[in-house]
Amino acid sequence: MKKIGILGGMSATSTQIYYRTLHSLTQAELGGLHSPNLLIRSVDFAPLAQHMDDGNWTAIGECLREEVQTLVAGGAELIVLATNTMHKLKDQIMQGLDLPFIHIADATATAVLSAGLKRPAFFATKFTMQETFYLDILRRNGLEPIVPVADQQDVINDIIFQELCKNIATPESETAYLEILSSLQAQGADSVILGCTEVCLLLNAQNAGIPVFDTTFIHCQAALRAALD
Ligand code: GLU
Repeated sequence: MKKIGILGGMSATSTQIYYRTLHSLTQAELGGLHSPNLLIRSVDFAPLAQHMDDGNWTAIGECLREEVQTLVAGGAELIVLATNTMHKLKDQIMQGLDLPFIHIADATATAVLSAGLKRPAFFATKFTMQETFYLDILRRNGLEPIVPVADQQDVINDIIFQELCKNIATPESETAYLEILSSLQAQGADSVILGCTEVCLLLNAQNAGIPVFDTTFIHCQAALRAALD
């Protein structure tokens, strides 16, 4: 198995889910005492989140570019950037590096298409919901994501940063997410993309009532597939 380099900590809550999920997928695939071959670089999210609020994406890109080099120096053979939002900076982070990058949006688009679905509701940070770096990939694949309106985006985004990234999941926030999801279903959503790596703390196949595409899980599956290839 190739060594998977995870650039994580964004948030540390979801990086723990990556570790657990990669372990259970490896167990399901290989059995015995097999466990994933990983190198995890978990950064401190606070200064990066501050840069996001300040719109200082260049500083984030520089930091993550440096951090990915530590994974390469440690022998990583493929890179998993364990956050949807930071894929905005993928080109800057991977510039000049010649190793596979497992893109979370590509893997997600493939999963939705393979299920024969087309109009996923899209839950993510406001950056991912408002900008084109992610939605364009879904649209290029023929999908028609249904993006929440501004008020709904604020609710989703606030819950991500004030609660989920701190590993807090409350029944009130679950209800708020389910209400937004029902309104997107009323607009024709046939499924939902959990386009933020912590949203699986609140939405899942049981409570959503429509097919769920959890980017954290899908990303882990794609990474393991590439590592075993
Ligand atoms: N983990 C989140 C995501 O998947 C949000 C945190 C971040 O901005 O990196 O987008």
